[in-house]
Amino acid sequence: CDMGALDNLIANTVYLQARKSVDGDIKEMRKRRQSLALPSHQQSESVRQNIDVVFENVCEKQPIGKKLFHLFTETVPEYQVAVDFENEVMDFCLAENGVKDNLRQNIVTNFLKPDSKNYLAFLSQELADKCKDAAENNFEERLALARSEAKTFLMGRPFEDFQNSPFFTKFLQWKTFERQPITEKYFYQFRVLGKGGFGEVCAIQVKTSGKMYACKQLDKKRLKKKHGEEMALLEKEILEKANSRFIVNLAYAYENKNDLCLVMTLMNGGDLKFHIYHIGERGLEINRTIFYTAQIACGILHLHSMNIVYRDMKPENVLLDDNGNCRLSDLGLAVRVKGSKTISQKAGTNGYMAPEILKEEKYTYSVDWFALGCSVYEMIAGRTPFKDYKEKVSKDEVKRRTLEDEEKYEHPKFTEESKDICKLFLAKNAEERLGCRRENDDPRNHPFFKSINIQRLEAGLIDPSFVPDPSTVYCKDLGDIADFSEIKGIEITGQDKQFYKTFSTGAVTIPWQEEIIECGLFDELNDSTRRESKIGGMVN
Ligand code: ADP
Ligand code: MG
Ligand code: MG
Repeated sequence: CDMGALDNLIANTVYLQARKSVDGDIKEMRKRRQSLALPSHQQSESVRQNIDVVFENVCEKQPIGKKLFHLFTETVPEYQVAVDFENEVMDFCLAENGVKDNLRQNIVTNFLKPDSKNYLAFLSQELADKCKDAAENNFEERLALARSEAKTFLMGRPFEDFQNSPFFTKFLQWKTFERQPITEKYFYQFRVLGKGGFGEVCAIQVKTSGKMYACKQLDKKRLKKKHGEEMALLEKEILEKANSRFIVNLAYAYENKNDLCLVMTLMNGGDLKFHIYHIGERGLEINRTIFYTAQIACGILHLHSMNIVYRDMKPENVLLDDNGNCRLSDLGLAVRVKGSKTISQKAGTNGYMAPEILKEEKYTYSVDWFALGCSVYEMIAGRTPFKDYKEKVSKDEVKRRTLEDEEKYEHPKFTEESKDICKLFLAKNAEERLGCRRENDDPRNHPFFKSINIQRLEAGLIDPSFVPDPSTVYCKDLGDIADFSEIKGIEITGQDKQFYKTFSTGAVTIPWQEEIIECGLFDELNDSTRRESKIGGMVN
Protein backbone atom coordinates (compact mmCIF):
# COMPACT_ATOMS: atom_id res chain seq x y z
CA CYS A 1 0.00 0.00 0.00
CA ASP A 2 1.47 3.32 -1.03
CA MET A 3 2.05 6.25 1.31
CA GLY A 4 -0.82 8.32 -0.06
CA ALA A 5 -3.28 5.51 0.57
CA LEU A 6 -1.90 5.00 4.05
CA ASP A 7 -2.21 8.71 4.85
CA ASN A 8 -5.77 8.57 3.64
CA LEU A 9 -6.59 5.53 5.73
CA ILE A 10 -5.16 7.17 8.84
CA ALA A 11 -6.96 10.45 8.19
CA ASN A 12 -10.25 8.62 7.73
CA THR A 13 -9.78 6.50 10.83
CA VAL A 14 -9.00 9.48 13.06
CA TYR A 15 -11.93 11.37 11.62
CA LEU A 16 -14.39 8.49 11.99
CA GLN A 17 -13.16 8.02 15.55
CA ALA A 18 -13.86 11.67 16.35
CA ARG A 19 -17.31 11.39 14.81
CA LYS A 20 -18.11 8.40 16.96
CA SER A 21 -16.71 9.83 20.14
CA VAL A 22 -18.76 12.98 20.47
CA ASP A 23 -19.09 11.71 24.02
CA GLY A 24 -15.97 9.56 23.78
CA ASP A 25 -13.12 11.52 25.24
CA ILE A 26 -15.31 12.57 28.10
CA LYS A 27 -12.46 12.71 30.58
CA GLU A 28 -10.48 15.13 28.51
CA MET A 29 -13.56 17.25 27.96
CA ARG A 30 -14.48 17.21 31.65
CA LYS A 31 -11.04 18.49 32.49
CA ARG A 32 -11.40 21.32 30.05
CA ARG A 33 -14.81 22.16 31.32
CA GLN A 34 -13.65 22.32 34.93
CA SER A 35 -11.75 25.45 34.11
CA LEU A 36 -14.80 27.08 32.57
CA ALA A 37 -17.09 29.50 34.29
CA LEU A 38 -19.55 32.15 33.29
CA PRO A 39 -18.20 35.70 33.27
CA SER A 40 -19.21 37.61 36.40
CA HIS A 41 -22.20 39.97 36.75
CA GLN A 42 -19.88 42.95 36.72
CA GLN A 43 -18.22 41.85 33.52
CA SER A 44 -21.60 41.26 31.94
CA GLU A 45 -23.23 44.61 32.63
CA SER A 46 -21.77 46.27 29.57
CA VAL A 47 -23.45 43.77 27.24
CA ARG A 48 -26.87 45.05 28.37
CA GLN A 49 -26.64 48.08 26.08
CA ASN A 50 -25.92 45.92 23.03
CA ILE A 51 -28.88 43.63 23.38
CA ASP A 52 -32.15 44.16 21.62
CA VAL A 53 -34.35 43.54 24.63
CA VAL A 54 -37.50 42.62 22.75
CA PHE A 55 -39.57 39.58 23.72
CA GLU A 56 -39.24 37.75 20.39
CA ASN A 57 -35.51 38.25 20.29
CA VAL A 58 -34.72 37.30 23.87
CA CYS A 59 -37.38 34.75 24.79
CA GLU A 60 -38.23 33.07 21.50
CA LYS A 61 -35.39 33.22 18.97
CA GLN A 62 -32.42 32.70 21.25
CA PRO A 63 -32.32 29.17 22.70
CA ILE A 64 -30.59 30.21 25.93
CA GLY A 65 -32.87 33.21 26.39
CA LYS A 66 -35.87 30.96 25.86
CA LYS A 67 -34.60 28.41 28.38
CA LEU A 68 -33.92 31.07 31.00
CA PHE A 69 -37.31 32.67 30.44
CA HIS A 70 -38.96 29.28 30.92
CA LEU A 71 -36.92 28.62 34.05
CA PHE A 72 -38.14 31.99 35.30
CA THR A 73 -41.80 31.30 34.51
CA GLU A 74 -41.56 28.05 36.46
CA THR A 75 -41.18 30.18 39.57
CA VAL A 76 -44.58 31.86 39.03
CA PRO A 77 -47.48 29.39 38.56
CA GLU A 78 -49.66 31.95 36.78
CA TYR A 79 -46.92 32.52 34.18
CA GLN A 80 -46.08 28.88 33.82
CA VAL A 81 -49.62 28.05 32.80
CA ALA A 82 -49.29 30.33 29.78
CA VAL A 83 -46.03 28.67 28.71
CA ASP A 84 -47.48 25.17 29.18
CA PHE A 85 -50.47 26.17 27.12
CA GLU A 86 -48.24 27.47 24.30
CA ASN A 87 -46.31 24.19 24.32
CA GLU A 88 -49.43 22.05 24.19
CA VAL A 89 -50.87 24.08 21.34
CA MET A 90 -47.58 23.64 19.50
CA ASP A 91 -47.69 19.85 20.02
CA PHE A 92 -51.25 19.83 18.82
CA CYS A 93 -50.41 21.74 15.63
CA LEU A 94 -47.56 19.37 14.81
CA ALA A 95 -49.38 16.17 15.75
CA GLU A 96 -50.30 13.53 13.23
CA ASN A 97 -53.99 13.28 12.46
CA GLY A 98 -54.53 10.12 14.49
CA VAL A 99 -53.74 11.78 17.82
CA LYS A 100 -55.10 15.26 17.14
CA ASP A 101 -58.57 14.70 18.60
CA ASN A 102 -57.12 13.51 21.83
CA LEU A 103 -54.75 16.46 22.19
CA ARG A 104 -57.52 18.89 21.32
CA GLN A 105 -59.71 17.50 24.08
CA ASN A 106 -56.80 17.67 26.53
CA ILE A 107 -56.22 21.32 25.80
CA VAL A 108 -59.84 22.13 26.52
CA THR A 109 -59.94 20.09 29.70
CA ASN A 110 -56.60 21.36 31.02
CA PHE A 111 -56.73 25.02 30.12
CA LEU A 112 -59.98 26.29 28.73
CA LYS A 113 -62.78 25.25 31.07
CA PRO A 114 -63.39 27.76 33.89
CA ASP A 115 -63.01 24.89 36.36
CA SER A 116 -59.75 23.59 34.81
CA LYS A 117 -56.85 23.45 37.21
CA ASN A 118 -54.75 25.45 34.74
CA TYR A 119 -57.49 27.75 33.52
CA LEU A 120 -56.06 30.63 31.47
CA ALA A 121 -57.25 33.53 33.60
CA PHE A 122 -55.81 36.08 31.19
CA LEU A 123 -58.07 35.08 28.29
CA SER A 124 -60.59 37.69 27.24
CA GLN A 125 -64.10 36.71 28.32
CA GLU A 126 -65.35 36.64 24.76
CA LEU A 127 -62.68 34.23 23.56
CA ALA A 128 -62.91 32.13 26.70
CA ASP A 129 -66.61 31.54 26.04
CA LYS A 130 -65.86 30.48 22.48
CA CYS A 131 -63.03 28.09 23.34
CA LYS A 132 -64.94 25.79 25.63
CA ASP A 133 -65.99 23.32 23.00
CA ALA A 134 -63.33 21.30 21.19
CA ALA A 135 -65.95 19.91 18.81
CA GLU A 136 -66.70 23.38 17.45
CA ASN A 137 -65.63 23.42 13.79
CA ASN A 138 -63.56 26.59 13.91
CA PHE A 139 -61.89 25.49 17.12
CA GLU A 140 -58.42 25.66 15.55
CA GLU A 141 -58.82 29.29 14.56
CA ARG A 142 -59.92 30.11 18.08
CA LEU A 143 -57.02 28.20 19.50
CA ALA A 144 -54.69 30.34 17.41
CA LEU A 145 -56.34 33.43 18.90
CA ALA A 146 -55.97 32.03 22.41
CA ARG A 147 -52.33 31.35 21.68
CA SER A 148 -51.76 34.90 20.57
CA GLU A 149 -53.48 36.15 23.75
CA ALA A 150 -51.13 33.92 25.75
CA LYS A 151 -48.18 35.48 24.00
CA THR A 152 -49.45 39.00 24.56
CA PHE A 153 -49.82 38.12 28.22
CA LEU A 154 -46.25 36.77 28.45
CA MET A 155 -44.86 39.85 26.70
CA GLY A 156 -46.33 42.08 29.42
CA ARG A 157 -45.79 41.63 33.15
CA PRO A 158 -43.95 38.27 32.93
CA PHE A 159 -41.37 39.64 30.50
CA GLU A 160 -40.88 42.74 32.67
CA ASP A 161 -40.47 40.67 35.81
CA PHE A 162 -38.03 38.41 33.97
CA GLN A 163 -35.83 41.39 33.15
CA ASN A 164 -35.63 42.22 36.84
CA SER A 165 -34.89 38.65 37.87
CA PRO A 166 -31.59 36.80 38.37
CA PHE A 167 -32.47 34.77 35.29
CA PHE A 168 -31.96 37.81 33.11
CA THR A 169 -28.64 38.53 34.80
CA LYS A 170 -27.65 34.99 33.86
CA PHE A 171 -28.74 35.73 30.32
CA LEU A 172 -26.38 38.72 30.23
CA GLN A 173 -23.58 36.51 31.54
CA TRP A 174 -24.22 33.97 28.79
CA LYS A 175 -24.30 36.75 26.19
CA THR A 176 -20.92 37.94 27.43
CA PHE A 177 -19.60 34.40 27.22
CA GLU A 178 -20.99 34.10 23.69
CA ARG A 179 -18.96 37.11 22.61
CA GLN A 180 -15.61 35.73 23.68
CA PRO A 181 -12.94 35.94 20.99
CA ILE A 182 -12.64 32.75 18.91
CA THR A 183 -9.29 31.49 17.63
CA GLU A 184 -8.07 28.25 16.12
CA LYS A 185 -7.24 27.03 19.64
CA TYR A 186 -10.96 26.60 20.23
CA PHE A 187 -11.03 23.57 17.87
CA TYR A 188 -9.34 20.27 17.00
CA GLN A 189 -8.77 19.83 13.27
CA PHE A 190 -9.44 16.69 11.24
CA ARG A 191 -9.23 15.58 7.66
CA VAL A 192 -9.99 17.58 4.57
CA LEU A 193 -13.54 17.02 3.35
CA GLY A 194 -13.46 18.91 0.12
CA LYS A 195 -11.96 21.71 -1.83
CA GLY A 196 -13.42 25.13 -2.48
CA GLY A 197 -12.33 27.99 -4.66
CA PHE A 198 -10.24 29.67 -1.94
CA GLY A 199 -9.11 26.80 0.23
CA GLU A 200 -9.96 23.51 1.84
CA VAL A 201 -12.97 22.47 3.86
CA CYS A 202 -11.98 20.41 6.93
CA ALA A 203 -13.80 18.64 9.71
CA ILE A 204 -13.23 20.29 13.09
CA GLN A 205 -14.41 19.73 16.65
CA VAL A 206 -15.02 22.22 19.45
CA LYS A 207 -12.73 21.20 22.30
CA THR A 208 -15.13 22.01 25.12
CA SER A 209 -18.35 20.65 23.67
CA GLY A 210 -17.23 17.83 21.38
CA LYS A 211 -19.46 19.20 18.62
CA MET A 212 -18.20 18.54 15.09
CA TYR A 213 -18.39 21.12 12.33
CA ALA A 214 -17.10 21.72 8.82
CA CYS A 215 -14.61 24.56 8.48
CA LYS A 216 -14.39 26.30 5.13
CA GLN A 217 -11.04 28.05 4.92
CA LEU A 218 -10.53 31.03 2.68
CA ASP A 219 -6.86 31.71 2.03
CA LYS A 220 -6.30 35.42 2.70
CA LYS A 221 -3.78 35.88 -0.09
CA ARG A 222 -5.76 33.91 -2.64
CA LEU A 223 -8.86 35.87 -1.66
CA LYS A 224 -7.03 39.14 -2.26
CA LYS A 225 -5.44 38.02 -5.51
CA LYS A 226 -8.81 36.98 -6.93
CA HIS A 227 -10.66 39.98 -5.41
CA GLY A 228 -13.04 37.63 -3.61
CA GLU A 229 -13.35 39.59 -0.35
CA GLU A 230 -16.71 41.18 -0.94
CA MET A 231 -18.30 37.94 -2.15
CA ALA A 232 -16.87 36.07 0.83
CA LEU A 233 -18.29 38.62 3.23
CA LEU A 234 -21.69 38.45 1.54
CA GLU A 235 -21.67 34.64 1.78
CA LYS A 236 -20.78 34.89 5.44
CA GLU A 237 -23.52 37.42 6.17
CA ILE A 238 -26.15 35.40 4.36
CA LEU A 239 -25.15 32.14 6.09
CA GLU A 240 -25.19 33.95 9.42
CA LYS A 241 -28.73 35.21 8.98
CA ALA A 242 -30.20 32.14 7.33
CA ASN A 243 -31.26 30.18 10.34
CA SER A 244 -32.98 27.15 8.89
CA ARG A 245 -32.69 23.40 9.28
CA PHE A 246 -32.61 23.21 5.47
CA ILE A 247 -29.59 25.43 4.98
CA VAL A 248 -26.07 24.85 6.25
CA ASN A 249 -25.78 27.11 9.31
CA LEU A 250 -22.83 29.26 10.24
CA ALA A 251 -21.73 28.71 13.84
CA TYR A 252 -18.46 30.69 13.97
CA ALA A 253 -16.44 33.05 11.80
CA TYR A 254 -12.83 33.55 12.80
CA GLU A 255 -9.37 34.08 11.35
CA ASN A 256 -5.98 32.48 11.76
CA LYS A 257 -2.69 33.61 10.32
CA ASN A 258 -3.40 32.54 6.76
CA ASP A 259 -7.14 32.03 6.45
CA LEU A 260 -10.57 33.37 7.12
CA CYS A 261 -12.68 30.51 8.43
CA LEU A 262 -16.38 29.75 8.19
CA VAL A 263 -17.45 27.08 10.67
CA MET A 264 -20.64 25.42 9.48
CA THR A 265 -22.99 22.50 10.05
CA LEU A 266 -21.05 19.32 9.28
CA MET A 267 -22.66 17.34 6.50
CA ASN A 268 -21.15 13.85 6.52
CA GLY A 269 -23.47 12.06 4.15
CA GLY A 270 -22.09 13.33 0.84
CA ASP A 271 -23.77 15.50 -1.77
CA LEU A 272 -26.80 14.47 -3.82
CA LYS A 273 -24.81 14.36 -7.04
CA PHE A 274 -22.65 11.64 -5.48
CA HIS A 275 -25.75 9.71 -4.44
CA ILE A 276 -27.41 10.06 -7.84
CA TYR A 277 -24.43 8.85 -9.88
CA HIS A 278 -22.11 6.82 -7.68
CA ILE A 279 -24.28 4.69 -5.43
CA GLY A 280 -26.36 1.87 -6.86
CA GLU A 281 -28.40 2.46 -9.98
CA ARG A 282 -28.28 5.97 -11.47
CA GLY A 283 -30.98 8.22 -10.02
CA LEU A 284 -32.73 8.05 -6.66
CA GLU A 285 -35.75 6.18 -5.41
CA ILE A 286 -38.90 8.27 -5.87
CA ASN A 287 -39.64 8.58 -2.13
CA ARG A 288 -36.17 9.91 -1.49
CA THR A 289 -36.57 12.36 -4.36
CA ILE A 290 -39.86 13.60 -2.88
CA PHE A 291 -38.35 13.94 0.60
CA TYR A 292 -35.23 15.83 -0.54
CA THR A 293 -37.21 18.04 -2.88
CA ALA A 294 -39.55 19.02 -0.04
CA GLN A 295 -36.59 19.88 2.20
CA ILE A 296 -34.87 21.80 -0.59
CA ALA A 297 -38.08 23.73 -1.32
CA CYS A 298 -38.23 24.70 2.38
CA GLY A 299 -34.64 25.92 2.16
CA ILE A 300 -35.24 27.92 -1.02
CA LEU A 301 -38.43 29.46 0.40
CA HIS A 302 -36.49 30.44 3.52
CA LEU A 303 -33.86 32.23 1.43
CA HIS A 304 -36.54 33.93 -0.65
CA SER A 305 -38.30 35.10 2.51
CA MET A 306 -35.03 36.86 3.37
CA ASN A 307 -34.99 38.44 -0.13
CA ILE A 308 -32.14 36.22 -1.22
CA VAL A 309 -31.83 34.43 -4.56
CA TYR A 310 -29.71 31.28 -4.22
CA ARG A 311 -28.66 31.03 -7.90
CA ASP A 312 -26.73 27.79 -7.50
CA MET A 313 -29.40 25.16 -6.97
CA LYS A 314 -28.04 21.77 -8.16
CA PRO A 315 -27.66 18.34 -6.55
CA GLU A 316 -23.94 18.91 -5.96
CA ASN A 317 -24.76 21.75 -3.56
CA VAL A 318 -27.25 19.76 -1.51
CA LEU A 319 -25.49 17.90 1.30
CA LEU A 320 -26.73 15.10 3.56
CA ASP A 321 -26.10 14.90 7.29
CA ASP A 322 -25.61 11.80 9.47
CA ASN A 323 -29.35 11.22 9.73
CA GLY A 324 -30.10 11.60 6.03
CA ASN A 325 -31.61 15.10 6.15
CA CYS A 326 -30.38 17.51 3.52
CA ARG A 327 -29.39 21.16 3.49
CA LEU A 328 -28.45 23.71 0.86
CA SER A 329 -24.78 24.66 0.92
CA ASP A 330 -22.35 26.89 -0.95
CA LEU A 331 -24.12 30.24 -0.88
CA GLY A 332 -21.26 31.85 -2.80
CA LEU A 333 -23.51 32.90 -5.68
CA ALA A 334 -26.44 34.03 -3.53
CA VAL A 335 -27.49 37.67 -3.81
CA ARG A 336 -29.82 40.03 -2.01
CA VAL A 337 -32.70 41.50 -3.94
CA LYS A 338 -33.23 45.09 -2.88
CA GLY A 339 -36.86 46.18 -2.78
CA SER A 340 -38.51 45.70 -6.16
CA LYS A 341 -35.19 45.71 -8.02
CA THR A 342 -34.12 42.85 -10.29
CA ILE A 343 -30.80 41.20 -11.09
CA SER A 344 -29.23 41.17 -14.52
CA GLN A 345 -25.80 39.67 -13.87
CA LYS A 346 -25.38 36.26 -15.53
CA ALA A 347 -24.67 33.57 -12.91
CA GLY A 348 -25.31 29.91 -12.24
CA THR A 349 -24.12 26.50 -13.39
CA ASN A 350 -24.39 25.26 -16.94
CA GLY A 351 -27.36 22.91 -17.26
CA TYR A 352 -29.31 24.49 -14.41
CA MET A 353 -29.65 28.08 -15.63
CA ALA A 354 -33.14 29.36 -16.35
CA PRO A 355 -34.04 30.79 -19.78
CA GLU A 356 -34.25 34.32 -18.34
CA ILE A 357 -30.60 34.11 -17.22
CA LEU A 358 -29.46 32.61 -20.52
CA LYS A 359 -31.23 35.34 -22.46
CA GLU A 360 -29.55 37.89 -20.19
CA GLU A 361 -32.88 39.30 -19.10
CA LYS A 362 -33.62 40.73 -15.68
CA TYR A 363 -34.65 38.11 -13.14
CA THR A 364 -35.18 37.32 -9.44
CA TYR A 365 -36.43 34.31 -7.47
CA SER A 366 -37.84 32.40 -10.48
CA VAL A 367 -34.39 31.08 -11.43
CA ASP A 368 -34.18 28.95 -8.29
CA TRP A 369 -37.39 27.10 -9.14
CA PHE A 370 -36.19 26.36 -12.66
CA ALA A 371 -32.92 25.00 -11.26
CA LEU A 372 -34.90 22.91 -8.77
CA GLY A 373 -36.89 21.53 -11.72
CA CYS A 374 -33.63 20.48 -13.39
CA SER A 375 -32.54 18.87 -10.12
CA VAL A 376 -35.78 16.94 -9.51
CA TYR A 377 -35.60 15.67 -13.08
CA GLU A 378 -31.99 14.62 -12.44
CA MET A 379 -32.79 12.80 -9.19
CA ILE A 380 -35.39 10.77 -11.05
CA ALA A 381 -33.77 10.21 -14.46
CA GLY A 382 -30.07 10.22 -13.57
CA ARG A 383 -29.42 12.98 -16.10
CA THR A 384 -30.36 16.64 -16.45
CA PRO A 385 -33.24 17.60 -18.76
CA PHE A 386 -31.04 19.27 -21.37
CA LYS A 387 -27.84 17.28 -21.14
CA ASP A 388 -27.41 13.51 -20.89
CA TYR A 389 -25.06 11.95 -18.33
CA LYS A 390 -21.46 12.37 -19.52
CA GLU A 391 -22.67 13.81 -22.82
CA LYS A 392 -20.03 15.99 -24.45
CA VAL A 393 -21.94 19.05 -25.50
CA SER A 394 -21.13 22.76 -25.75
CA LYS A 395 -22.52 25.45 -23.45
CA ASP A 396 -24.22 27.01 -26.43
CA GLU A 397 -26.01 23.78 -27.30
CA VAL A 398 -27.24 23.37 -23.70
CA LYS A 399 -28.43 26.98 -23.91
CA ARG A 400 -30.21 26.33 -27.18
CA ARG A 401 -31.93 23.22 -25.83
CA THR A 402 -32.93 25.01 -22.63
CA LEU A 403 -34.50 27.83 -24.62
CA GLU A 404 -36.11 25.79 -27.39
CA ASP A 405 -36.51 22.10 -26.60
CA GLU A 406 -39.21 20.33 -24.66
CA GLU A 407 -37.69 17.99 -22.10
CA LYS A 408 -38.57 14.29 -22.50
CA TYR A 409 -40.16 12.08 -19.87
CA GLU A 410 -39.26 8.66 -21.24
CA HIS A 411 -37.62 7.35 -18.09
CA PRO A 412 -39.86 4.70 -16.49
CA LYS A 413 -39.41 6.21 -13.02
CA PHE A 414 -41.48 9.31 -13.87
CA THR A 415 -44.88 9.17 -12.18
CA GLU A 416 -47.79 11.42 -13.14
CA GLU A 417 -47.05 13.80 -10.27
CA SER A 418 -43.30 13.88 -10.74
CA LYS A 419 -43.72 14.57 -14.45
CA ASP A 420 -46.19 17.33 -13.69
CA ILE A 421 -44.02 19.07 -11.10
CA CYS A 422 -40.97 18.96 -13.40
CA LYS A 423 -43.00 20.42 -16.26
CA LEU A 424 -44.27 23.21 -14.01
CA PHE A 425 -40.81 24.04 -12.65
CA LEU A 426 -39.30 23.90 -16.13
CA ALA A 427 -41.79 26.33 -17.67
CA LYS A 428 -39.68 28.48 -19.97
CA ASN A 429 -41.71 31.56 -19.18
CA ALA A 430 -41.00 32.62 -15.58
CA GLU A 431 -44.55 33.89 -15.05
CA GLU A 432 -45.99 30.44 -15.77
CA ARG A 433 -43.52 28.61 -13.56
CA LEU A 434 -44.45 26.81 -10.34
CA GLY A 435 -43.36 29.07 -7.48
CA CYS A 436 -43.73 32.26 -9.52
CA ARG A 437 -47.28 32.27 -10.84
CA ARG A 438 -48.69 34.57 -8.15
CA GLU A 439 -47.88 35.97 -4.69
CA ASN A 440 -47.15 33.12 -2.30
CA ASP A 441 -47.22 30.40 -4.97
CA ASP A 442 -45.93 27.67 -2.65
CA PRO A 443 -44.61 24.66 -4.63
CA ARG A 444 -44.99 22.49 -1.53
CA ASN A 445 -48.74 22.41 -2.15
CA HIS A 446 -48.22 20.37 -5.33
CA PRO A 447 -49.61 16.78 -5.19
CA PHE A 448 -46.04 15.51 -5.70
CA PHE A 449 -45.66 16.15 -1.94
CA LYS A 450 -48.97 14.62 -0.87
CA SER A 451 -47.23 11.99 1.26
CA ILE A 452 -45.43 14.66 3.33
CA ASN A 453 -46.81 16.74 6.19
CA ILE A 454 -44.87 19.95 5.56
CA GLN A 455 -45.38 21.35 9.06
CA ARG A 456 -43.88 18.23 10.58
CA LEU A 457 -41.07 18.31 8.03
CA GLU A 458 -40.28 21.91 9.00
CA ALA A 459 -40.20 20.91 12.65
CA GLY A 460 -37.74 18.11 11.88
CA LEU A 461 -40.23 15.43 12.88
CA ILE A 462 -40.08 13.28 9.76
CA ASP A 463 -37.45 10.55 9.67
CA PRO A 464 -35.56 10.21 6.39
CA SER A 465 -35.96 6.80 4.75
CA PHE A 466 -32.30 6.67 3.73
CA VAL A 467 -29.67 7.00 6.45
CA PRO A 468 -26.03 7.32 5.31
CA ASP A 469 -23.73 4.56 6.54
CA PRO A 470 -21.93 5.96 9.59
CA SER A 471 -18.73 4.07 8.79
CA THR A 472 -18.39 5.46 5.28
CA VAL A 473 -16.54 8.66 4.50
CA TYR A 474 -18.63 10.10 1.68
CA CYS A 475 -15.96 12.27 0.18
CA LYS A 476 -13.02 12.00 -2.15
CA ASP A 477 -9.79 10.41 -0.98
CA LEU A 478 -7.21 12.89 0.29
CA GLY A 479 -4.99 12.35 -2.74
CA ASP A 480 -7.81 13.28 -5.11
CA ILE A 481 -8.30 16.62 -3.47
CA ALA A 482 -5.66 18.69 -5.22
CA ASP A 483 -3.35 20.77 -3.10
CA PHE A 484 -3.24 24.51 -3.45
CA SER A 485 -0.18 26.23 -4.79
CA GLU A 486 1.28 28.97 -2.65
CA ILE A 487 0.30 32.51 -3.59
CA LYS A 488 3.24 34.84 -4.07
CA GLY A 489 3.60 38.58 -4.43
CA ILE A 490 0.57 39.58 -2.36
CA GLU A 491 1.07 42.05 0.49
CA ILE A 492 -1.41 42.20 3.34
CA THR A 493 -2.12 45.83 4.25
CA GLY A 494 -3.71 47.53 7.25
CA GLN A 495 -6.90 47.85 5.25
CA ASP A 496 -6.93 44.09 4.65
CA LYS A 497 -6.52 43.50 8.36
CA GLN A 498 -9.47 45.78 9.03
CA PHE A 499 -11.50 43.64 6.63
CA TYR A 500 -10.46 40.43 8.42
CA LYS A 501 -11.76 41.93 11.66
CA THR A 502 -15.09 42.78 10.09
CA PHE A 503 -15.32 39.21 8.88
CA SER A 504 -14.21 37.45 12.07
CA THR A 505 -17.18 38.05 14.34
CA GLY A 506 -16.78 34.87 16.41
CA ALA A 507 -19.73 32.79 17.57
CA VAL A 508 -23.10 33.12 15.82
CA THR A 509 -25.85 33.47 18.41
CA ILE A 510 -28.39 30.75 17.67
CA PRO A 511 -26.09 27.86 16.65
CA TRP A 512 -23.71 28.67 19.51
CA GLN A 513 -26.48 28.66 22.07
CA GLU A 514 -27.87 25.41 20.63
CA GLU A 515 -24.42 23.83 20.91
CA ILE A 516 -24.04 24.96 24.52
CA ILE A 517 -27.41 23.48 25.47
CA GLU A 518 -26.94 20.28 23.44
CA CYS A 519 -23.57 19.41 24.98
CA GLY A 520 -24.75 19.96 28.55
CA LEU A 521 -22.62 23.02 29.25
CA PHE A 522 -25.68 25.15 29.80
CA ASP A 523 -26.88 22.99 32.67
CA GLU A 524 -23.39 22.61 34.10
CA LEU A 525 -22.49 26.29 34.18
CA ASN A 526 -25.89 27.73 34.81
CA ASP A 527 -26.47 26.10 38.19
CA SER A 528 -22.86 25.90 39.11
CA THR A 529 -21.82 27.59 42.31
CA ARG A 530 -18.34 27.63 40.89
CA ARG A 531 -16.33 30.75 41.34
CA GLU A 532 -17.07 33.12 38.52
CA SER A 533 -13.85 33.73 36.73
CA LYS A 534 -12.64 35.86 33.93
CA ILE A 535 -13.90 35.50 30.37
CA GLY A 536 -11.83 33.49 28.01
CA GLY A 537 -11.86 30.37 30.14
CA MET A 538 -13.03 28.58 27.07
CA VAL A 539 -10.11 29.58 24.92
CA ASN A 540 -7.34 27.23 25.77
P1 ADP B 1 -16.68 26.83 -2.80
O1 ADP B 1 -17.75 27.83 -2.69
O2 ADP B 1 -15.34 27.47 -2.66
O3 ADP B 1 -16.81 25.97 -4.00
P2 ADP B 1 -17.99 24.95 -1.13
O4 ADP B 1 -18.83 25.63 -0.13
O5 ADP B 1 -18.67 24.42 -2.33
O6 ADP B 1 -16.79 25.89 -1.53
O7 ADP B 1 -17.18 23.77 -0.42
C1 ADP B 1 -16.23 23.00 -1.13
C2 ADP B 1 -16.42 21.51 -0.87
O8 ADP B 1 -16.26 21.23 0.53
C3 ADP B 1 -17.81 20.98 -1.19
O9 ADP B 1 -17.88 20.58 -2.53
C4 ADP B 1 -17.95 19.80 -0.24
O10 ADP B 1 -17.28 18.66 -0.75
C5 ADP B 1 -17.19 20.25 0.98
N1 ADP B 1 -18.10 20.87 1.97
C6 ADP B 1 -18.56 22.14 1.93
N2 ADP B 1 -19.36 22.41 2.97
C7 ADP B 1 -19.43 21.28 3.69
C8 ADP B 1 -20.11 20.91 4.91
N3 ADP B 1 -20.89 21.79 5.56
N4 ADP B 1 -19.96 19.66 5.37
C9 ADP B 1 -19.17 18.78 4.71
N5 ADP B 1 -18.52 19.05 3.57
C10 ADP B 1 -18.62 20.29 3.06
MG1 MG C 1 -18.66 24.74 -4.44
MG1 MG D 1 -19.02 28.83 -3.66
